[in-house]
Amino acid sequence: MMSILSGVSLKAVGGAQSKLLKGIAARQLHSTCDVAVVGGGIVGLAAARELILRHPSLSFILLEKEKELSLHQSGHNSGVIHSGIYYTPGSLKARLCVRGATLAYEYCEKKGIPYRRCGKLIVAVEQEEIPRLKALYQRGLKNNVRDLSILDAKGIREREPYCRGIMALDSPYTGIVDWRMVALRYGRDFEELGGTVQTEYEVSGISMVKESPAGSSEGMKYPIAIRDKKGGEVRCRYVLTCGGLYSDRLSLISGCSREPRIVPFRGDYLVLKPEKHYLVKGNIYPVPDPRFPFLGVHFTPRMDGSVWLGPNAVLAFKREGYNLYDFNAQDFTDALSFRGLQKLIMRNVTYGLGEMYRGVFIGAQVKILQKYIPELSQMDVLRGPAGVRAQALDREGNLVDDFVFDGGVGDVGSRVLHVRNAPSPAATSSLAIGEMIADEVEKRFAL
Ligand SMILES: Cc1cc2nc3c(=O)[nH]c(=O)nc-3n(C[C@H](O)[C@H](O)[C@H](O)COP(=O)(O)OP(=O)(O)OC[C@H]3O[C@@H](n4cnc5c(N)ncnc54)[C@H](O)[C@@H]3O)c2cc1C
Repeated sequence: MMSILSGVSLKAVGGAQSKLLKGIAARQLHSTCDVAVVGGGIVGLAAARELILRHPSLSFILLEKEKELSLHQSGHNSGVIHSGIYYTPGSLKARLCVRGATLAYEYCEKKGIPYRRCGKLIVAVEQEEIPRLKALYQRGLKNNVRDLSILDAKGIREREPYCRGIMALDSPYTGIVDWRMVALRYGRDFEELGGTVQTEYEVSGISMVKESPAGSSEGMKYPIAIRDKKGGEVRCRYVLTCGGLYSDRLSLISGCSREPRIVPFRGDYLVLKPEKHYLVKGNIYPVPDPRFPFLGVHFTPRMDGSVWLGPNAVLAFKREGYNLYDFNAQDFTDALSFRGLQKLIMRNVTYGLGEMYRGVFIGAQVKILQKYIPELSQMDVLRGPAGVRAQALDREGNLVDDFVFDGGVGDVGSRVLHVRNAPSPAATSSLAIGEMIADEVEKRFAL
């Protein structure tokens, strides 16, 4: 790979070069490489790592708009290693989650990343939830989720002394980890293998270069130009984008269709006061409502010893807006003028208003949580952090539930691959997703 910053050619390679690039990120970057990966979340990093492992002789750069890697979805999530219970048997989501969880445990073990296999109960508190709970059990078995069993009320109390329920699905294989820590480790692997990480590079254009630049000895070897707003240009042979909340906009700038559109949904967490941590041992989840893609508010112990409760799911007025009042005019008008979102809102007005109400009034959220732990009171919780989910929607207002790849048409289409939707639990599945993306890259590009 060749890098030129403000006319100075950098001879250093790999990690050393990358540190240098970070240090002078404010200046214009001009660089060439075989493959550029846009987006330094857990999906982009897992894919970049897998690609460089498979193709060590090629040059790679990973471009991230923030100062640090994985500050968005990959750094704002529940931190659960899901076991793969919920997903339709045979679906990509199910297969990637089950394989991803196994790979994640192995990876954490190998790299010394702390994790806890603290298990999870999916608890039915109403009789009407029992058929759905039993169906989930069957689904989990079909998905080859390990060690699943059904518990009665007594069994629930033995596992979680403060939890009340009539029946539960016990998944001891479920765990917790700090997903950002995992993502940063993928990034370190990538750099150690010779890849370059460039932060503070916000990609604003992806296009074919028509002419060979005057005097360039590279000719048309690197026909794709990836530009940023500061005037930087990375030339490469192939591009992979993994833009999370901006995946639709990254696709659009290379000439792809706007759909599926990303609509941001913010999830606010409450945190349990330290003196009440004894109430929760492992993950406690509700039986999910099949009408919605989110798993419902849950109790989740964290690796730092805290316990998070939530999240709810409300339409966010800014794509990376983590506060209730965060607002971005473009994001807001973009979302509300989209026919797909209008249809979704019309179909789910009551649910949406309920979620917003519970986001504002802690008492209402606590009331739901009390169904599982009656001893919990409003005095025991504080407002906590939030995450924003990239929810892909089609024009009819359907939530896109599985992976979507797109390359567009024409010359660019044969050289660009966009990961347009990498839905939850993409952190759990990340190593398996990395393999799948690398397979797709190899299928589409002549590496
Ligand atoms: C509230 C919440 C809870 C969740 N809980 C779990 C869980 O418990 N377990 C689990 O497995 N999954 C969970 N998930 C899902 C998981 O966190 C995400 O699926 C995963 O992190 C997605 O990773 P990503 O790399 O696709 O996106 P991101 O992490 O959002 O990364 C995208 C990156 O692209 C960068 N980018 C965007 N545009 C540009 C540009 N123009 N130029 C350069 N860079 C750009 C962004 O800055 C960002 O760093 C949760 C998600 C949320 C929101």
